[in-house]
Amino acid sequence: MNDCRIVEDLLPLYEEDLLHKETVDWIETHLSTCESCRSRANETLAAFPAAPIKPKKTAAAMMKNVRSKLAIYQLLFVLLSFAFAMSTSIFADSFQFILSYFILGFSTFYFYRSWIFTILISMIPIIIWSIYDTIASYGSYHQWYTQALENHDSVAGLFGMLLGSSLLMGIIHTLFAALGAVVALLTMKITEKEESL
Ligand SMILES: [Zn+2]
Repeated sequence: MNDCRIVEDLLPLYEEDLLHKETVDWIETHLSTCESCRSRANETLAAFPAAPIKPKKTAAAMMKNVRSKLAIYQLLFVLLSFAFAMSTSIFADSFQFILSYFILGFSTFYFYRSWIFTILISMIPIIIWSIYDTIASYGSYHQWYTQALENHDSVAGLFGMLLGSSLLMGIIHTLFAALGAVVALLTMKITEKEESL
């Protein structure tokens, strides 16, 4: 809600191309997710038809562009996260994953400024990979099921254990991603301060 007010205030400057690149990116990210601001942006564009210094693009076309760019980056982050999840278990006894997830968290948060997205993107691939890796270590799903079941009272207990340990893996990795995100947040705060000086 608060973001919408800020976007509303900045729209005239945005249309005149008077904002920092970072602010423009932030506005465009917001516009891509907020219907009401998008329609306001379209109205503002219509209200200032005499200022097309830049090649005239409709807000809708612009948003389409931004959204497809975001989708590509999102895909890249997901792939990267999966690659980190897999290399973590391959290099299980090195601490490389700490650096990998720190960087993943840093860059995801720097780019999207979203805690939820940062956490999901670091946690979900490692959980999926961890489930797969546990089962694969038994040779096959059938072998895992029959052998691991011997150590558990029930099927529910077996799957609970599998999900629980994978979730724990996800949380441990995500802690380092969150640390990276915190550093990203501080970095942004510092650069914003420097820019305003
Ligand atoms: Zn909005």
